[in-house]
Amino acid sequence: GRTLRLAGAHLLGRDTAKGLPGRQDIEAALRASLTGDAPKPFVLAWQPIFHSNDGTLMAAEALVRWPRPRRAPLVPDDFIPVAEATGLITHLDRWVLRTACAAAASWDSDLPISINMSAANFYLTDLLPIVMSALAESGLSPDRLEIEVTETVLLQDPDGVRQQIDRLRGLGLRIALDDFGGGHGTLGYLNAFPFDTVKIDRAFIRQLDSGERAEAVVRAIIQLGQALSIRTVAEGVETQAQLDFLTAAGATAVQGFLLGAPMPEARLTALFAPPLG
Ligand code: C2E
Ligand code: CA
Ligand code: CA
Ligand code: CA
Repeated sequence: GRTLRLAGAHLLGRDTAKGLPGRQDIEAALRASLTGDAPKPFVLAWQPIFHSNDGTLMAAEALVRWPRPRRAPLVPDDFIPVAEATGLITHLDRWVLRTACAAAASWDSDLPISINMSAANFYLTDLLPIVMSALAESGLSPDRLEIEVTETVLLQDPDGVRQQIDRLRGLGLRIALDDFGGGHGTLGYLNAFPFDTVKIDRAFIRQLDSGERAEAVVRAIIQLGQALSIRTVAEGVETQAQLDFLTAAGATAVQGFLLGAPMPEARLTALFAPPLG
């Protein structure tokens, strides 16, 4: 068959002692694949997010992967930091946005999706037209799209970022605060910025196993979310005990390996089909 020549692929076969390509090869391969029209080597994995009250599918989060010939795929931790340090991240995130919107628009379902955007995107003057054209090209209804940002986006230029968030929400999409509680975040962020959703960091969910203090913190975030009409999504749910606690505490939704790991698009869309029998 015909082989697709993926830009920069040859650079990714030279693993160092750690079993990964070196930083310079990753940067060169990112640059080769993200500048110009070369076919993009990335794929999206989709992780399902479930309503905690009735266990039904609520949304799916797109997570980027970088398959390599004869090697394990690179995961975001291997290359997102390089993309962020070199400014290539806005190109990568734009590809993810367009690809995710096109995929979701093709589904036999109105399932909402979320994508991740690094902070740099929020300092682009043309972020709004980029998002508008991804929606227009795909035909995806804006209310099916949520953009996840971490608190790092709020640090540099809070007023400019608030404007960007307002403009994006004006298109009819939603904005989520990702990894909440994992950094230096304060509860004040939830009040100061118009987030639709807060994703409670996996670190908090893991700590639920070790006692009542973590339970009190998670419960407080959920209650604040309820008071401010912000949906709460618990990330990294791995045990039935965590799920039971989160359901009882009233979290809007749950996401984690217990319920479904990131999966290929075909496995996600199979979840839309009504069960047989
Ligand atoms: P995130 O947005 O917090 O995504 C959740 C990460 O946790 C994913 O890792 C997912 O595979 C993992 N995860 C989900 N459930 C569980 C669980 O139950 N237990 C554990 N231990 N892990 C779980 P992944 O795919 O490696 O992504 C890592 C991070 O890379 C993401 O964290 C996100 O910040 C970033 N990322 C992924 N895709 C993109 C992208 O397209 N653009 C940007 N800018 N960043 C991305
Ligand atoms: Ca995320
Ligand atoms: Ca997260
Ligand atoms: Ca993260």
